Amino acid sequence: MRISIWSTVVSMFLGASSFAAERPNILFIFTDDHASHAMSCYGSKINETPNLDRIADEGMLFRNCFCTNSICGPSRAVIQTGKYSHKNGFYMNGDRFDGTQQTFPKLLQAAGYQTAVIGKWHLGEHMPPQGYSYSDVLVGQGPYYNPPMLRDVDGSGDQERIKRTGYTTDIITDLALEWLKSGRDESRPFMLMYQHKAPHREWAPGPDHLTMYDDVDIPEPDNLFDDYATRGRAAREQDMTIATTMTPRDLKLVPPPYLNEEQLEVWNAAYGPKNRAFEKANLEGDDLVRWKYQRYIKDYLRCIASVDDNVGRVLDYLDETGLADNTVVIYSSDQGFYLGDHGWFDKRFMYEESYRMPLLIKWPGVTEPGSVNTDLVSNVDFAETFLDIAGVDIPGDMQGASLVPLLKGETPDDWRKSHYYQYYEFLNDRRTAHMVRRHYGVRTARYKLIHFYNIDEWELYDLASDPREMRNLYGEPQYQDLIQDLKAEIVRLQEELEVPDDAGSVEPNPPSLKIR
Ligand code: CA
Repeated sequence: MRISIWSTVVSMFLGASSFAAERPNILFIFTDDHASHAMSCYGSKINETPNLDRIADEGMLFRNCFCTNSICGPSRAVIQTGKYSHKNGFYMNGDRFDGTQQTFPKLLQAAGYQTAVIGKWHLGEHMPPQGYSYSDVLVGQGPYYNPPMLRDVDGSGDQERIKRTGYTTDIITDLALEWLKSGRDESRPFMLMYQHKAPHREWAPGPDHLTMYDDVDIPEPDNLFDDYATRGRAAREQDMTIATTMTPRDLKLVPPPYLNEEQLEVWNAAYGPKNRAFEKANLEGDDLVRWKYQRYIKDYLRCIASVDDNVGRVLDYLDETGLADNTVVIYSSDQGFYLGDHGWFDKRFMYEESYRMPLLIKWPGVTEPGSVNTDLVSNVDFAETFLDIAGVDIPGDMQGASLVPLLKGETPDDWRKSHYYQYYEFLNDRRTAHMVRRHYGVRTARYKLIHFYNIDEWELYDLASDPREMRNLYGEPQYQDLIQDLKAEIVRLQEELEVPDDAGSVEPNPPSLKIR
C-alpha cells in the first residue's frame, strides 16, 4: 500500500510518461527446437553455450518448464495468447493463427509499450503479425541462408518483402540490434521478440561453424538403439528415427538449394572432404546409424553455436548501453528435441526431451543471480508473466499464471502440482509429418501418465527411477491406485481447461478423449 501511494505521488510530480518509462523492457529471445540438454547451464554433455549461460548466471534457470503441445506453430500460439491450443484455435502446423484474438503484445501495446517481433513468426502469412509496432519476419519456416522477410515498420499491416543475403541467424540479430539502436521510440519501454529459425531441421550451419567439431566424437545417448520394449505402437510406429527418416539433405550429402555461388563454394570446401570420406567408408547397420547421429548432432550444435554467439552480441549491447539494468531478458525455445534419444530426432511426444522447454529469466534487482526453480511451469504462463512484469492486468480468460512470484523466489502455496499436455498432429486418413499419434497426458513432479487416445494405449512412467522413460509401468499391478489417481487428475484438468471432447478433430468420426 505504501508503495502505491508513493508511486502516485512520484507520478504526479514527474508526470505519467516519465514514470511509465521506468517500467522494465522485455527482451524475449526465442529459438526453434533447442533442447535444454544442449545447453551447458542445463548440464549438457555435448556442447557449451557460454552466452546463454550468462542469462542463467545473472538470473533464474527453470528446470521444469513444459510446453502444452510440442510443436512449432502451436507453441507460438500458446505464447501469444496464454491459452491452450483448443482455446486459441491453433492445433497443428499448417493451421492459421487467428490474429484478431486477444494476445499479450496487443495488451502491452495498449499499455504504452512499443512492441516488436523480429525473426521467425511461423503463424502464417495470411495476415501480418498483430499487436506489434514493428515486425520483420521470416516467411514460413524461412531458409538458413538468404531469407526473404516481410517488414512492417509501423504496425499498419503494410508489409514490404525484402530478400536479404547472408546467414539467417546473423541477419535476425543484425535486425534486432538495428531496431534497438535506432528503430524504437526511446521514451517508451519496449517488448522485443527476437526469434531465431535455428536450430530447426535441416540444421544448416553458418559459415563460421562449418567445421566446428570436425575432430571430435560427440557422446551418444545411452538409448540411441532403443528397441521400444514395454512401450506401445506410438513409440514403435513413429517416423522420426535417425536410422531411417533422415534425408540426404538432412545429412548434408547434398548442399542446401538456397546457397549462392560464393556460399556454395565455402560449403563444399567444408562438407566435400567429409562426404568423400563417408562414401569411401561404405558403412552399414549400426555403424551407419552412428555416423548419421554424428553428422546430425554436430550440425545441430553448430547451429546452436551461432545462436549463442549472436545472443552474446545482443547481451553485450544491453550491457554497454546500460539498457541491461532495466531489461528483463528471457531465453526459451518453442519445445525440446530428441538428440538421438530413443533413436530419434524431432519432437511431438510428451516424453521429457521434447516436452521440456529451456527457460532462463534474468531480471536485474529481482531474480537472484544463479538461482534455480523446480516448479512445474509452462509456455501457457509466458503471456501472463510478461503482462505482470509490465504491470498490466492479466485477463481472466488466460489459462496460465504469472511467474513473477517465482522470479522473486516466492512460489505460491497453490502453484500447480500437475501439468496437462495434448498433441494433435496426426490424421488417420492422411500421411502427416513424423506420424506421431495423438495423445494427452498429465505430469506431476514424479509421474507421467500418457493416453494415445485414438489407439487407446496408455503409458505410465516413474520419472524418479526412470528419467529416460524406458519402462512403461502401466500394466504393473502395484501402480493401479496411482493410475486411477492420475486419470482422475486428467479428468479434472480437462474440465478446468475446458478441453472439448472432440478437440482438434478434423475426421468425420473423431476418437473420443473421454477416459473409459
Ligand atoms: Ca519447434
